[in-house]
Amino acid sequence: MTVIETRPSAPVQMARADVAAAVAAAERMLAALGVDTQAEHLRRTAERMVLSYGEVLRPAPFEATDFVNDAKHQGFVIVRDVAFAAICAHHLLPFVGSATVGYLPGARLLGLSKLTRLVEHATRGLQVQENVTQQIADGLQQVVPDNGGMGVIVEAEHLCMTLRGAKARGASTVTSAWRGALARDVSVRSEFLSLAGRGWRP
Ligand SMILES: [Zn+2]
Repeated sequence: MTVIETRPSAPVQMARADVAAAVAAAERMLAALGVDTQAEHLRRTAERMVLSYGEVLRPAPFEATDFVNDAKHQGFVIVRDVAFAAICAHHLLPFVGSATVGYLPGARLLGLSKLTRLVEHATRGLQVQENVTQQIADGLQQVVPDNGGMGVIVEAEHLCMTLRGAKARGASTVTSAWRGALARDVSVRSEFLSLAGRGWRP
């Protein structure tokens, strides 16, 4: 069993967080924005806001379980479309999407649910999508180091881009990370993309 050490770019340590100070600051921020913090629906909003951020920003514990590859499986192991929601480090607004993660196993196999845990682990904290993508690949490299190659595709809608600013509703951002044979060999990468069901998508 391997405990991976990768962490989101800005993990929030709630044990060290001063919840009362955060609630007071959130209350002041809302008031400074012109919000009536004494209106019925808003009286406890600052507190809820702080507790919500505390919950979604806390790093998810991750322990990898691996198994011997006794059948000597040499093909891809891919888990497709693992849904996630994360908070963007630049605007503190959510980005919501899915990740497809796969690898070519060596002597060890990773428990399948651990691929989804890797995604959950990488999407906690204040994050940017490019880092999430690389951290999933780095985490996978740590837990199955003798792999023949790996691929990660992350696709997400960023509310900071669709709700405000460019207001590009429906726009999604796709990022990828390739390691080993997938980085070197376009035909291996094509097989991954085909199995991932993305051969016909941009
Ligand atoms: Zn953003």
